[in-house]
Amino acid sequence: MNKRFSKVFVGTNHKMYKTNKQTLDYLRALEELTADIPRSQLELFVLPPYVALADACRQVDQSLITIGAQNMHWEEQGQFTGEISPIMLQDVGVSLVMIGHAERRQIFGETDEMVNRRVLASLRHGFQTLVCVGETADDKRYGTSHERLAQQIKIALHNVTQEAWKQIWVAYEPVWAIGDHGEEADPVYVNQMHAHIRETLAHSFGYNQDVPVLYGGSVNLTNASELNIQPEVDGLFIGRAAWDVDNFNKIIRSILA
Ligand code: PEP
Repeated sequence: MNKRFSKVFVGTNHKMYKTNKQTLDYLRALEELTADIPRSQLELFVLPPYVALADACRQVDQSLITIGAQNMHWEEQGQFTGEISPIMLQDVGVSLVMIGHAERRQIFGETDEMVNRRVLASLRHGFQTLVCVGETADDKRYGTSHERLAQQIKIALHNVTQEAWKQIWVAYEPVWAIGDHGEEADPVYVNQMHAHIRETLAHSFGYNQDVPVLYGGSVNLTNASELNIQPEVDGLFIGRAAWDVDNFNKIIRSILA
C-alpha cells in the first residue's frame, strides 16, 4: 500500500441502533469474519451505544477490534445529568472516543469550543481520539467549505500538546454526505478536502504526519475502494453500510484487495 500508513483504518459508528445483545452478536461475528486479516494491515474499530460498552470491552480482544464511545463529557464527574465521563469510560475499558460527530453538533448544539474541551479531556485520559469535522451543504453551495473545516480543526485541536498528537485521528464527514439523506461524495473532491485538512494541521500546529484522516459519508460496498484508494485518504468511517456485519466484512475486504 503506497500510502502514509502501512495499515488502513476502518470503523463504524452504531449510533442509536443496536441493543447490548445485538452489539455483542455483531462483534462476535466481526471478530470471526475478520480473523484471517493481519492487524498490521487493518486498524478496525466499532463505536457501540454507551450501554453496550462494558460488555463489548469484556467480550472483544481489542488488539483485533478497538472499542470506542460515541461521545464523552469533559468533566470527570459532576452535576451533568445524562452525560458520561472519561473516568466511566476508562473504568469499562474503552480505548477510543469519538468527538464532534455532525449529529452531536447539529442536533445537540455542540459548539467547536465544546468539542475542544472534550478532545482535551479525552487526550488527558489517554484515549485514542477520533475528531469529526465536515462542512454543511450551505458551506458547499456558498464556497465556505475550506473556512468551515479550518475553523473546526483549529478550535477542536487548540492546545493539543506535542506528545498527544499521536492519539488524534480525524474523520472528514461532510454533513451533506452522511446519514439517510446523504449524497455520495466525489472521491476526487474527498481527496482535495483531505489535503486541505492536512494543510490546515501543518499550518496551524506544525504537525500532520502521524494523523490519519478517515473519510465518512455514504460509504458503501460499491464506492469504498475508490474512496479509500485516494492518496490523502487513510481509511473509512462507515455508518449504515457497516451495520450488517457481512456487508461490513465485504467492504473491508474490498478495500484490502
Ligand atoms: C456517519 O453518520 O458518521 C456516517 C458515516 O454515516 P453513513 O455512512 O450512514 O452516511
